[in-house]
Amino acid sequence: MSDARHRPSASEPGPNPLAAGENNISVEAARAAIDAAIHPTTDVETVPIALAVGRILADDVISPLDVPPHDNSAMDGFAFDGRALDATQALTLRIVATMHAGAAPVEGVETGQCVRIMTGARMPAGLDTVVPFELCRVDDGDNVEIPASVIAAGENRRFRGEDLASGKAALTRGRVLRPADIGLIASLGLTTASVRRRLRVAVFSTGDEIVSPGQPLPPNCVYDSNRFALIAALQRLGMEPLDFGLVADNRASLQDAMARALEDVNVIITSGGVSAGDADYTRDVMTSMGSVSFWKVAMRPGRPFAFGKLSGRNGRDAWLFALPGNPVASLVGFYSLAREALLKLAGASAQPLPSLDARCTVDIRKRPGRTEFQRGFVWLGDDGKWMVRPVGSQGAGILRSMAEANALIVLPDNHGSTKAGDFVSVWLFDGLT
Ligand code: AMP
Ligand code: MG
Repeated sequence: MSDARHRPSASEPGPNPLAAGENNISVEAARAAIDAAIHPTTDVETVPIALAVGRILADDVISPLDVPPHDNSAMDGFAFDGRALDATQALTLRIVATMHAGAAPVEGVETGQCVRIMTGARMPAGLDTVVPFELCRVDDGDNVEIPASVIAAGENRRFRGEDLASGKAALTRGRVLRPADIGLIASLGLTTASVRRRLRVAVFSTGDEIVSPGQPLPPNCVYDSNRFALIAALQRLGMEPLDFGLVADNRASLQDAMARALEDVNVIITSGGVSAGDADYTRDVMTSMGSVSFWKVAMRPGRPFAFGKLSGRNGRDAWLFALPGNPVASLVGFYSLAREALLKLAGASAQPLPSLDARCTVDIRKRPGRTEFQRGFVWLGDDGKWMVRPVGSQGAGILRSMAEANALIVLPDNHGSTKAGDFVSVWLFDGLT
């Protein structure tokens, strides 16, 4: 099923990056315009592998050696020459030596002989097969009987370089390092990894009615949730969020906050103050500081959105993602429009949220013309198929339903209503970045 991640094909009219202005730009077009505008930052640092999980690899890791460095046994058992096997009768061999992992290989093993060998021990020359202890009968301690057909020639032998071959790329740059990758780097004898510098992202919230948690709540005000949700989302992406606090609804405060952030970040993320009802100064301030486009993205929730580049006095610049103020809209905007762009900026190869098709258990009313993101809960049905249902109230300000959800149901812009039993595309975000 198509979903909002699909890029427009070459035959479709391309988006007009950074010049979209007032319009009803599609989610696909907004994503494509952002993607076309941004290029990864290039700062690199070297970190100990113990601190490298979640970081983005800056260079290919080339293996300096073969892993494993020699053929070795994959089991505790008896190593022998597999050519002696006969499918119709048992094979009896004389045990001539025992080899533990790390020992020098026994030499001169002859036909009719075998070696007791432990997992990881180097295969003696001429021996290519290991039969596990539990498949054999050892009679007087000197001889072992291997029943017919329990083992084939060549089994349970690990080959030199089968994990990694010397001179080959073990991991490629752009990879977000996972625990297995860290182990792989260690298996090459390396202690450090060359990774991208963390993207520094300033986050602030706008609005005269917004109050920081921990403060008394005056009448007519609400606590700031966006800043904390967005900072948390950035942390999960391995980025370095900087809390720039609250900005009041006036020109000077916004200008000052932008100017301060520009001093030392790659990206500025704001929430609130970009919808049609907001004072014109938001637009004035943002556009006067760089090239910023204000879009009405054809999506729900999260229609108002601004994107562009701000420039500081000292030649520094930063990307701006101005998200809507409604708490769900700001997070949906983050996941649908900002997340992958931030990862690309940070130097990561494409990292879309995992998506799958799930059977929707209820009707969802929708009119064509915009992409709708519903908060959904995905589970595995009794028939082994993924199921999904919308959770809670879908109002753009209802953060609780976002907290109850583990996925976004993505209803593409050209689709109308969904019937119970139809498959819908979902983006999983619970437990993931
Ligand atoms: P705005 O986009 O500034 O017009 O805000 C839309 C709605 O979101 C208003 O009800 C705001 O009070 C609310 N809102 C804006 N920013 C935040 C925030 N940081 N935390 C919680 N609610 C917010
Ligand atoms: Mg506001």
